[in-house]
Amino acid sequence: MEVCESGSNLVVFEHVWKTYAHGASPVNAVQDLSFRIDQGEFVAIMGPSGSGKSTTLHLLGFLDRPSQGQIFWQGSDASRLSENSLARLRNQAIGFVFQSFNLLPRMSVLENVELPLKYGSFKPKEHRARAWEALRLVGLEKEAFRRPNQISGGQQQRVAIARALVTGAKMILADEPTGNLDSKSSQDIMQLFSHLNRDMGCTIVLVTHNPEVASWARRQLYFRDGRLVADTSSEQSAIC
Ligand code: ADP
Ligand code: MG
Repeated sequence: MEVCESGSNLVVFEHVWKTYAHGASPVNAVQDLSFRIDQGEFVAIMGPSGSGKSTTLHLLGFLDRPSQGQIFWQGSDASRLSENSLARLRNQAIGFVFQSFNLLPRMSVLENVELPLKYGSFKPKEHRARAWEALRLVGLEKEAFRRPNQISGGQQQRVAIARALVTGAKMILADEPTGNLDSKSSQDIMQLFSHLNRDMGCTIVLVTHNPEVASWARRQLYFRDGRLVADTSSEQSAIC
């Protein structure tokens, strides 16, 4: 899997708003958001429930479009990209990890990891080798032929991370990835994210309620009422 360059801007938000029609009174899920994420960063998004964290993650992953403002991907205005280009971006450049793992129960671990390759432009001959490589990265080769319900929650989340990485994604977006895990498994998952960030140059943005989980990241964005209210970097925040 290729190591990404660090330092250049990956995603830029400029005065981004997301408004949902809510009967007579529309809800601003995020308001006037401006920030940038550089390649190689490890960012935690924090804030109370309803503060706009998931909305921001969806916008970052181009799963949703802003109501106002602009989002740039590697310098290109995303509103000018076609649906096809956006779909390619979501499939190949961005990997998603969820709180509830979202693995398919009837498929083996290996088949789950291979799945995103079927929707991309990868040669079928490469699928198996890529899936094995992603499983190796998360340390789960031995579980390749098991079903999701035959492995632990922590291992299932590692499978989800392998699935997010298998296309060679530059950026992983994770919404409460440790929300369903005990503290030991949470630590293991954060250690894995840290390794992928430091050693593979993978950009990681995760949402968490948990300050201990957030402290693994090198930058923390705090949200309140749909606004970005603080943007802090930890000691070791130099981008590698
Ligand atoms: P968080 O992830 O921080 O809990 P969200 O981004 O999910 O917050 O939600 C922010 C606000 O936007 C909340 O008030 C929520 O109710 C509202 N919201 C989010 N998604 C929708 C939607 N699809 N339709 C209507 N309102 C929504
Ligand atoms: Mg949320």
